[in-house]
Amino acid sequence: MNLDLSTEELAFRDEVRAFLEEARTPELREAGRRATSVFMDKRYSLPWQKILHARGWAAPSWPKAYGGPGWNEMQRHIFAAECARAGAPSLAPMGLRMVGPVIMGYGTAEQKAHYLPRILSGEDYWCQGYSEPGAGSDLAALQLRAVRDGDHYVLNGSKLWTTHAHWANRMFCLVRTLADGKPQAGITFLLLDMTAPGIRVRPIITLAGEHEVNEVFFEDVRVPVSGRVGEENQGWTVAKYLLEFERGGGSAPGLKVLLGRVRTAAEAAGLLAEPSFRAKLIETEIALQAIEMSEHRILAALSAGKNPGPASSMLKTQGGETMQRIDELLLEVAGAYAAVDQPAAREPGSNIPPIGPEALLTATPRYLNDRAASIYGGSNEIQRDIIARLVLGL
Ligand SMILES: Cc1cc2nc3c(=O)[nH]c(=O)nc-3n(C[C@H](O)[C@H](O)[C@H](O)COP(=O)(O)OP(=O)(O)OC[C@H]3O[C@@H](n4cnc5c(N)ncnc54)[C@H](O)[C@@H]3O)c2cc1C
Repeated sequence: MNLDLSTEELAFRDEVRAFLEEARTPELREAGRRATSVFMDKRYSLPWQKILHARGWAAPSWPKAYGGPGWNEMQRHIFAAECARAGAPSLAPMGLRMVGPVIMGYGTAEQKAHYLPRILSGEDYWCQGYSEPGAGSDLAALQLRAVRDGDHYVLNGSKLWTTHAHWANRMFCLVRTLADGKPQAGITFLLLDMTAPGIRVRPIITLAGEHEVNEVFFEDVRVPVSGRVGEENQGWTVAKYLLEFERGGGSAPGLKVLLGRVRTAAEAAGLLAEPSFRAKLIETEIALQAIEMSEHRILAALSAGKNPGPASSMLKTQGGETMQRIDELLLEVAGAYAAVDQPAAREPGSNIPPIGPEALLTATPRYLNDRAASIYGGSNEIQRDIIARLVLGL
């Protein structure tokens, strides 16, 4: 695989670089530096999405016909790498990377015309209603009941771990429309309005002290049948298609920046001379190179109009675990200073590890937050099962 940039690609990189330099406000720069999670606060991700949208760059992987920039595989990689390098805020994936491709693949002409422009512009902010109490890894066990009443479904039940439900005005949701028979055969995929009467959102505060996830309760919530994607009881096929995009990778450029920061700081702190630390750092660098190559292969598949397939499970597992290893290395470099912010340690003459004040402030929340990477999007144990069956044929 030749990753050397051609003259045109170098010109494209410079164009992206100049845009990122010019378009990020001081507030967005600060938000990027202080990010502690792959999910950015809506206060920052949405203004940034609007700026990108104005330039036509909000959805690098979308086909041109739906408002994407029409970039090839290398251009998308360059864009992602430059965003990571600059520390640009990340965009919420639920609309752009999850339900958007599903609507393109399975939606009606009306659904495409209505929702896709609103996803691009950020007018609709989406959340994902898949998991429930008792239905996480065993997603097909979901129980949120939807009963047909004329032109509506009436929903009763609850969802759990719903990221950004407190900010979303739309949810894509799996509901049970048939109680008998094979569990997978009684599920329907619905698009619904989070402001509908009967929906209640309750926060869950994580170990990192952050409000990202929620419980969502439904009491006689009426959802128009026109919000259904695919046929009734055929939602499982739609749900699985979406999960391939959810797990589809794209993490290498950001991880490279983080790991580069760890290496620089470790070098300045004299830690590279320690064989055990050096070995861990190099192992992580090698793992990251393998992820980067795999991501190129997935990008190539997407460019050729294919969906990611089970390779997305491999990337999800490797990307998440490598991210956790980088977090651990950063904590090791920060040492005792990772525990809390210690302004006195930043005074001239202090022996604070040279990892920069933002990295110091965010090391512990990031570590705690990223523990979830091996759980969300389907736990790594479940991904390894998928790999065993679909890749290794076991
Ligand atoms: C931060 C965060 C954000 C999330 N955001 C969303 C969201 O926006 N929308 C949404 O719908 N969901 C979301 N989730 C839910 C996530 O998809 C589930 O947590 C995940 O699928 C695991 O389900 P569970 O929590 O019910 O754990 P369980 O399924 O109860 O699993 C518990 C443990 O048992 C293991 N296990 C279970 N079954 C097997 C098996 N067959 N073989 C081997 N091991 C097994 C699991 O790997 C895990 O370690 C989020 C979760 C987190 C932590």
